[in-house]
Amino acid sequence: MRALVGRYDHVTGLPNRRQFVEHLDELAQLQTPNLLMLITLTDARQYNEMLRALGIAFCEDLVRAALTRLQRLVEPDQTVFHVSLLSFALTLPVDDPRAIPPLAQEIATAFGDTLTIDAIPVRIHVGVGLLPYNPQTAPAEALRAVLVAAQDSRLIASHVAFYDHKTDAAHLRAFRILADLPRAIASDDQLSLHYQPRINLQTDRCHAVEALLRWNHPELGPISPAEFVPLAEQTALITPLTDWVTQRAMAQNRLFRDAGHALRVSINASPANLSELGFHDVLLHRCDMAGLDPDHIELEFTEGMLATNTGRAIAQLDHLRTAGVDVALDDFGSGYSNLSNLSNIPADVLKIDQSLVRPLVQAGDDDFLLRQVLAIAQGMGFRVCAEGIESAYAFAHLRELGCQEGQGYFMARPMPADRLLDWLDARH
Ligand code: C2E
Ligand code: MG
Ligand code: MG
Repeated sequence: MRALVGRYDHVTGLPNRRQFVEHLDELAQLQTPNLLMLITLTDARQYNEMLRALGIAFCEDLVRAALTRLQRLVEPDQTVFHVSLLSFALTLPVDDPRAIPPLAQEIATAFGDTLTIDAIPVRIHVGVGLLPYNPQTAPAEALRAVLVAAQDSRLIASHVAFYDHKTDAAHLRAFRILADLPRAIASDDQLSLHYQPRINLQTDRCHAVEALLRWNHPELGPISPAEFVPLAEQTALITPLTDWVTQRAMAQNRLFRDAGHALRVSINASPANLSELGFHDVLLHRCDMAGLDPDHIELEFTEGMLATNTGRAIAQLDHLRTAGVDVALDDFGSGYSNLSNLSNIPADVLKIDQSLVRPLVQAGDDDFLLRQVLAIAQGMGFRVCAEGIESAYAFAHLRELGCQEGQGYFMARPMPADRLLDWLDARH
C-alpha cells in the first residue's frame, strides 16, 4: 500500500503527474511518433469563483464528472493521467505528429456542452493542448509546453492548439523580466530615470518634469517601462520599484532646485502602491528626507487603479493632497476612463491621453473629442495637461483652446538629468 502513496490522485484515482513523467521516459525507448495531449478543464479564475460559491466538494465532483465524459471518448485501454488540479494528460501514437487528431476535436466539442453537478449546470472553458513528443525534451518541460498550448487554445474557436513557440517566447520573456527585476532594483547600473519637461502652455515656462523609468538589461538591452511596469504591477515587486523611483526622483529634484530650477517632479504610482497601507506616510517621509516640500512633488496615477481597494486609495490620495502633494490623473480619455467617476477622484490635474492629442498635425484635424474632454475637465475644476504634443500645430491649438499645460516630443523628449539641466539652462 505504501508504494502507492503519492502515485495516484486521490480525487480521481488516476495515475498522477509523477507516473506521467515515468510514462514519458518509457516512451523515449520507443521509436514511433507520439503526441502529448493535455486537457485543462477551466481557467484558475473560473475555478476560484466556483470554489468560493460552491465549495471544494462540488469542484471535486466536477473534476470526476469531467473525467467520466473524457473516458467515454478515449479507447478503453488508453491511460489517462491526472497531472494537475484541473488537467488530464495522455499520449497518443500517431502517423503524423503535426496533424490534429480527431480525438482532440471530439474532446473539445464534447466539453462545449454543460456538465451537471448536483443539478447545477456548469459551462467550463476547456482547453486541449498538443505537443509532438520529442525524447530530447525533458518531461517537465514537455508538460509545461503542452499546458501552455492548452491555455493558448482557449483563445481560438476550436479550443484545440499545438504548442506555439512564438506565444511561449513572449511568456518566457515576461518571466525572465520578472526574475531579473529584483537584481536590477538592487544594482545601481541597470535602472535609471529620464525626465520629460512639462510646459505651461500660456507662459511657455517649464515648471515641472515627469520622471520616467528606463531599464538597460545587461543581456536583453533596453526594455520599455510599458513592458516591464505592468508585469511588476502583477507582483509584489511594484513596491520596491516605485520606492526606487521615488527616492531617485526626489534626490534629483533637490539637485535641480539647488541648481536654481524651481521644478516639481512628477512620479508615476501604480494601483498596488495606493492600496498599500501607509504608502502616503512613506512618500511624505521620503520627501522630507530629500529636503523637499510636499508641493515639490506630484503623484500620477491611472484611473484603472480605483477598481482595487478604492477606499484606501482615495483616503491616501486625500491625505497627500492635504499635505500639499499635487495629484494627477494620467492617461485620461483612454482605457478605463469613466466620466461618472470623475467627480469622486481626488486629483488636481487631469492629463489628457496622447491618443487624443497626437493626431493633431494641421488645421482641420479632428479635435472634437479633445475639446469636449478639455471642457469637461476644466468645467470640473481640474488643471489640464495635454500629453503627446508632437506638432507645432497641436502646441498652438491647445494653447488657443486654453489648455494650461502640455508635454510632448515637440517641446522635449524625456532625457537624463544632466541633459535636462543643459536644456533648462538654454531656455533662460
Ligand atoms: P505615461 O506616464 O503616460 O508617460 C508618458 C509616456 O509618453 C512616456 O513613455 C513618454 O516618453 C511618452 N511620450 C511623451 N511625449 C510623447 C510624444 O509627444 N509622443 C509620443 N509618442 N510619446 C510621448 P515611456 O517613458 O515609454 O513610459 C510609458 C509608460 O510607462 C508611462 O506612461 C507610465 O505609465 C509607465 N511608467 C514609466 N515610468 C514609470 C514609473 O516610474 N512608475 C510607473 N508606475 N510607471 C511608469
Ligand atoms: Mg505619467
Ligand atoms: Mg500618460
